[in-house]
Amino acid sequence: MNRMLSGAAARLVAGRWIAGTRADDALKDAKSFNSRGIRVLLNNLGEAYRSKAKINSTISNYMYLISNISKMKLNAALSVKPSQLGLLVSEKELERNYLGIVRAARNNGIFVWLDMEEHDTVDSTIELYRRSIKYGNTGICIQSYLRRSMDDEKQIVGDGGTIRLVKGAYTEPRDIAFQSRAEVTKQYSGMMDYLFRHASAFMIATHDIDMVSKAMRLEKRSKKRAMLGMLKGIMNRKAVELAESGEDMNIYVPFGPDWIAYSYRRLTEAGHTSLILRSLMKRQSINA
Ligand SMILES: Cc1cc2nc3c(=O)[nH]c(=O)nc-3n(C[C@H](O)[C@H](O)[C@H](O)COP(=O)(O)OP(=O)(O)OC[C@H]3O[C@@H](n4cnc5c(N)ncnc54)[C@H](O)[C@@H]3O)c2cc1C
Repeated sequence: MNRMLSGAAARLVAGRWIAGTRADDALKDAKSFNSRGIRVLLNNLGEAYRSKAKINSTISNYMYLISNISKMKLNAALSVKPSQLGLLVSEKELERNYLGIVRAARNNGIFVWLDMEEHDTVDSTIELYRRSIKYGNTGICIQSYLRRSMDDEKQIVGDGGTIRLVKGAYTEPRDIAFQSRAEVTKQYSGMMDYLFRHASAFMIATHDIDMVSKAMRLEKRSKKRAMLGMLKGIMNRKAVELAESGEDMNIYVPFGPDWIAYSYRRLTEAGHTSLILRSLMKRQSINA
């Protein structure tokens, strides 16, 4: 499908899923979502950087966000990708950059999530995350499509970490990842059960309404409160409804000029082509 989509089509959908090209666009979106009782997770788009200039400008953007989230008293966290902070340069470089952001965020009472990328980065991402748990303001994304993920979840919960549970957005080989939606959802459901039983803080990040309903049932039964998470522009109206009903609702809001890889992942989300095309016809607003 990637090749069938022109740059123009991708640009059209990017406007729905992305706050804009500048950090100030993301801050504006944050204010708007906050006014509806929704926390945002701000991500500066861009990945697989080898260039020091790109990495440094990404770090500056996150530092800019940290100081403005504080100044504007926004309810916002950051969500950063290892490969935009130096993973492809060296693990040392990545650790220095990531922990620099974590410390600056902690000084301002801001939470930092680590996004999860392709399967060959999972070990380094989890190792990096484990070194940041002691700061108390960090969480990590774990993907239920990876066969290994239940073991990772148990280890991270055992270490006192905070998990954001997603299905997974990359194309991965069969021996590494479940391929069918049924298998991915089955593992998602089992991993959710484990979080409700054993973790104190975690996020159920999905637009799968069956999984959201299950999380709400488990909240009642366990008396634990999960954070719920969705991506900007997919189910904004549902997110507002959930926030209004008292859920701890979070929306992932990406911004920046490097929007192509992210938009292609959304466009090629397995099995959702007709939904995506229909959603393009709708008005682009917080209620869409
Ligand atoms: C807060 C948050 C953070 C995330 N962080 C990461 C990360 O760090 N790493 C990672 O690999 N993935 C991440 N993801 C993406 C995730 O892995 C999935 O690719 C994405 O959420 C779609 O899967 P789903 O759980 O919504 O379920 P699905 O079963 O794929 O979809 C459920 C329903 O959601 C709707 N839907 C889903 N996607 C679309 C779409 N693009 N357009 C229109 N409707 C759609 C449809 O109604 C569909 O039936 C994140 C997702 C969220 C919500």
